[in-house]
Amino acid sequence: MPEPSSYRAPHCRCSLRGPFKVMLTYEETPCVCLECDGLISLESLEIPENHRLELIAWHREYNAVHTLLYESGVYSTWARQELHDINSPINESGRLLSAGLAEAFQVYYAFDPDNDPPPTSCPRCSGEIEPLPAHETAGPACKACCIIFPPPDKSA
Ligand SMILES: [Zn+2]
Ligand SMILES: [Zn+2]
Repeated sequence: MPEPSSYRAPHCRCSLRGPFKVMLTYEETPCVCLECDGLISLESLEIPENHRLELIAWHREYNAVHTLLYESGVYSTWARQELHDINSPINESGRLLSAGLAEAFQVYYAFDPDNDPPPTSCPRCSGEIEPLPAHETAGPACKACCIIFPPPDKSA
């Protein structure tokens, strides 16, 4: 086991840019390969500079909201609602940024509705959600909304 201070999450080494998801990683990039679970640096994606900066800003804001989960009382309650509501500002901007990449990449916004049992339809559009071909273990997705949900076997 590497020392926590020196631990670096593995980076994606896939030769082709396959599908990936946008999520909180605690690293520099919010992009994670669905093929190998490795991090994808934003520099490696050919996207406009302003889109890159917006993704970095979103990642920082999401991390800030997530940090509030561990605060007491009203902040924690607020953060929980924000993170698990697909229509909250932080999720809406993350989803829009992900959808903005969808012309060039197969990309999904990772959203955890925190439901038990897991949702059977998309909480945003009420449409069908289904596993991605060749990436069933990654969890079901709504292609219309560019959202991917946690796999059903995820222990609560
Ligand atoms: Zn990969
Ligand atoms: Zn949807």
